[in-house]
Amino acid sequence: MLKKLKQTALRSLKSAGVSALVQDSRWRRQRLLILAYHGISMFDEHEWNGSQYMSPEVLRGRMQQLKRSRCAVLPLGEAIERLYRNDLPDRAVTLTFDDGWADFYHRAFPIISEFGFPVTLYLTTFYSDYNRPVFDVVCSYLLWRGRARTLQAREFIGEEASVNLTANDAREAVLRKIRDFAAKQNLSASEKDARAAALAAHLGVDYDELLQRRVIHNVTPAEAKDLSGRGVDVQLHTHRHRTPLDRELFLREIEDNRRRINEITGKNPTHFCYPSGVYDPKFLPWLSEAGIKSATTCEVGFASPASLPLLLPRFLDNNTMAPIEFEAWLTGISLALPRRPSPARTLAGERI
Ligand SMILES: [Zn+2]
Repeated sequence: MLKKLKQTALRSLKSAGVSALVQDSRWRRQRLLILAYHGISMFDEHEWNGSQYMSPEVLRGRMQQLKRSRCAVLPLGEAIERLYRNDLPDRAVTLTFDDGWADFYHRAFPIISEFGFPVTLYLTTFYSDYNRPVFDVVCSYLLWRGRARTLQAREFIGEEASVNLTANDAREAVLRKIRDFAAKQNLSASEKDARAAALAAHLGVDYDELLQRRVIHNVTPAEAKDLSGRGVDVQLHTHRHRTPLDRELFLREIEDNRRRINEITGKNPTHFCYPSGVYDPKFLPWLSEAGIKSATTCEVGFASPASLPLLLPRFLDNNTMAPIEFEAWLTGISLALPRRPSPARTLAGERI
């Protein structure tokens, strides 16, 4: 209902010419819209998680809107420099993709490159090297695929339970237990992979097919190298998709990630994105110490010259957003309307 009202309001603002005034305003020119994406479906992932996965068709529609709206799509580094010099062009936008999913290589980049837009890929490198489905995330997907079933959960949660997977809440609850049990047992990456394969077998999902389709896999190092060679800006997202509160461990995450990206692309990344959008004030001096020039969050908003470079907000696009709402973000008129709180920020939280 709110969504409908909002869309009606946006249409009225557009036909009254207010959107056009905002999009060409000095206010908008001083702001950068950093768009954030995660996965673009290899198969049916957007039906499972429409806030983190988008269909290729919807992404193509977004790229067409960027072009039609005459947005200036800038590379991240240039956009940030110009933001702080107060030298942005009209309707400045930057494209960022988190995690480094294989679907970026197979689905997103072919579409983006048709439009010639620059794009940043924040790459978490552990699951590039260990190229199997990302455990915490694939378990969620498997439970959804098996939603018509009842799971005999002992093997996966360490206690007797018979879980009907029809309801979202039941799947969420058992997912937490599956992750906690694997963490408590301190499973290695390959042990977790074996457990995910066993879960797939229990739920009647063909795990080999997921492997073949590269569903919920990261890009391989060879794919990341190829992307970098074709102009994709590969940047930091930690090695293991986590931000420990201990300084040494935090810096190790950055260094391991930087070293791998450097080995893969031959370039030295200096921009960072907080995994799962999680940040703490104590990270800021550590990031400066590590030579990081910018860091993006999952806080929703435009970046302005008043934003801290190490806490830049973004706009998380999603599969269910109507084109008129997306357009309202490109113009800036969206800020005039009430918003719901940010959707769930994380795909997985701790993933390894
Ligand atoms: Zn991430």
